[in-house]
Amino acid sequence: MKAATAIIRKAAFNHNIDVIRAMAPNSCTWAAIKANGYGHGLLPVAKALASQTTGFGVARIEEALKLRAAGVVKPILLLEGFYSAIDLPVVLANNLQTVVHCEEQLHAFECATLEHPVTVWLKIDTGMHRLGVHPEDVGDFIERLNACPNVAKPLHFISHFGRADEPEHPLTQQQIDVFKTLTAGQPGYKSLAASSGTLLWPDSHFDFVRPGISLYGISPVSERTGADFGLQPAMTMTSSLIAVRRAQKGDAIGYGGRWIAPRDTKIGVVAIGYGDGYPRVAPDGTPLIVNGRRVPLVGRVSMDMLTVDLGPDATDRVGDEVILWGPELPVEEIAQHVGTIGYELVTNITSRVDIIYT
Ligand SMILES: *Cc1c(COP(=O)(O)O)cnc(C)c1O
Repeated sequence: MKAATAIIRKAAFNHNIDVIRAMAPNSCTWAAIKANGYGHGLLPVAKALASQTTGFGVARIEEALKLRAAGVVKPILLLEGFYSAIDLPVVLANNLQTVVHCEEQLHAFECATLEHPVTVWLKIDTGMHRLGVHPEDVGDFIERLNACPNVAKPLHFISHFGRADEPEHPLTQQQIDVFKTLTAGQPGYKSLAASSGTLLWPDSHFDFVRPGISLYGISPVSERTGADFGLQPAMTMTSSLIAVRRAQKGDAIGYGGRWIAPRDTKIGVVAIGYGDGYPRVAPDGTPLIVNGRRVPLVGRVSMDMLTVDLGPDATDRVGDEVILWGPELPVEEIAQHVGTIGYELVTNITSRVDIIYT
């Protein structure tokens, strides 16, 4: 009998990147596989996508080094750049491309002695106000980067949307306009769209799109699921019933007695909890699937278990499979119950969870 197990269908990655590339047919792709491929496994995702993507985007240099150590030779972009000047020789030695978003990174380039230049993407803050060079400083950064022998020419350009998941929000067009203006006439590549830009804002595609969540078949847009965009969820999160117990009307179930049985019923105990990454904040009523039917979570999620109301007439048995999310039960729907986004649920899977690839 299996405890928490993520079953991952690799063909879904191939299907999803096909869908994304068809939406941006004139753009190359950086497949975003940071955070362990959004919980789906860094190396399996990279290997599955290698023949269909121009390169890979990661957040941490360690993620890039794992890819190189596993023999991945495709271009790799550090989406936030390197964090410290001592990383620059590592960036060069591993043939990584890097973002430069701040004075400290630029200074590190100017002070370094490197045997070859490194490919650099200048990150511009076009309106999200998280990372990136302020528009008024972009000219100065371009000049200094172009004058720096450690920076490969031409210089490339990147920015990121703050609200592209909101279909009508005016900020996105403003960001596109700022990006266009600041990079006009520059010979390097330009990249602005992550998944939501790729799916909703054709004007944002430029030379490279950077899909992440959509590769895994999950929607970047709230109130929509991956299936609404023709995407296939790659992950099915499963576990098993380890007990089926009678509860009497009035019984308070689990820690804190959060749920009180309103009638005599049967309670299923499922071998998954927050120690596996299932969110402890999930409220009563969050759906799960047992033997093809939806049943509600009842009572607090524990570290290793959670409880569901199977109903008084249930015939479910110990060992039966339980689906926490998957194609039949979109992770976006679970996220909505929990007050988060699908990104967080899949990324939060812990190392205790078995991952099986089919
Ligand atoms: C994570 C990330 C992406 C991918 O975003 P999704 O919303 O998952 O498609 C793209 N660009 C940057 C800079 C990122 O950090």
